[in-house]
Amino acid sequence: MQIEVASLAESGKDFDHQYQPGELSLEDERVHLLDPQPYVRGRIRMDRGRVKVAGKITGHLQLECDRCLKPVESAVAAKFSREYATGADYQAQHAVELSEDDLNLSVFDGAVIDIDLLVREELLLAAPDQVLCQQACQGICPTCGADRNAAVCDCETADADPRWAGLKELVNGK
Ligand SMILES: [Zn+2]
Ligand SMILES: [Zn+2]
Repeated sequence: MQIEVASLAESGKDFDHQYQPGELSLEDERVHLLDPQPYVRGRIRMDRGRVKVAGKITGHLQLECDRCLKPVESAVAAKFSREYATGADYQAQHAVELSEDDLNLSVFDGAVIDIDLLVREELLLAAPDQVLCQQACQGICPTCGADRNAAVCDCETADADPRWAGLKELVNGK
């Protein structure tokens, strides 16, 4: 969804959009959208030459366990508040100084605000930093690639304390 800035009334307008399956991709190999698809609602308005967009997004993400790469589902809800400046305005501003307020400042072409891009970025920001299929996930064996949650492989001994290596040789009769 895109919103034309020229069509905005002085007072701004409310918008909402329910994405359909396949309509939006997060363009991230590790994060995918599940049903129910994202829903966004918010308000867009002009303020001293800038465009301000604020609202709320909900979505259902499929992520990968950080340790074993198994799919993990996560429902996310995020509030957002953004300010858009045209490219020229943005450059003029940055020639002066960077202020903390600029962290939420995005650049647009002056004609349309791309809500799909906003939703994609906000959903990725809202995704949890640490993803585990279970708190005690044992991960994948770096040697043989076996899922350690399912079975203990023989590579385990390779991680043994090197101080015991000599003793092991004794026991094995080498
Ligand atoms: Zn896992
Ligand atoms: Zn292994």
